[in-house]
Amino acid sequence: MSSEAVQNEDCLGWAARDVSGYLSPYKFGRRAVGNDDYTVVPGHEIVGVVKEVGSNVDRFKMGDHVGVGTYVNSCRDCDHCNMDLDVYCSKGAVGTFNSIDVDGTITKGGYSSSIVVHQRYCFTIPKDYPAALAHHCYVRGSLFTVP
Ligand SMILES: [Zn+2]
Repeated sequence: MSSEAVQNEDCLGWAARDVSGYLSPYKFGRRAVGNDDYTVVPGHEIVGVVKEVGSNVDRFKMGDHVGVGTYVNSCRDCDHCNMDLDVYCSKGAVGTFNSIDVDGTITKGGYSSSIVVHQRYCFTIPKDYPAALAHHCYVRGSLFTVP
């Protein structure tokens, strides 16, 4: 099993399963935490607390408050990515929800009990800053990170 493989289906989210658009509880698995990943327990618009970190994570530690924007992956190797403009990745940035990630899984967004994200796509939120106010920055998070 690779580090990208999906773990057990212990993540609870809400999903629309037909054209009615009604949301219902949905259990699914997130991929396993890799060396550069950490797991977040998110709130609305993906604001949450780090609960696990991979061995290469140096920007965050367990208990940190973080936010995740509108994309969660990129090639990390093209000219745009090398200029920290991952949202313009020449191979296509992976959207936070309903995109196909590098491991072939479909990203499922933050309306769930946790998410696994590479540290590159996360941003620190001061611990004394209310999560209910911080989430606004991540609704259209790329506006704050791309000039
Ligand atoms: Zn790229």
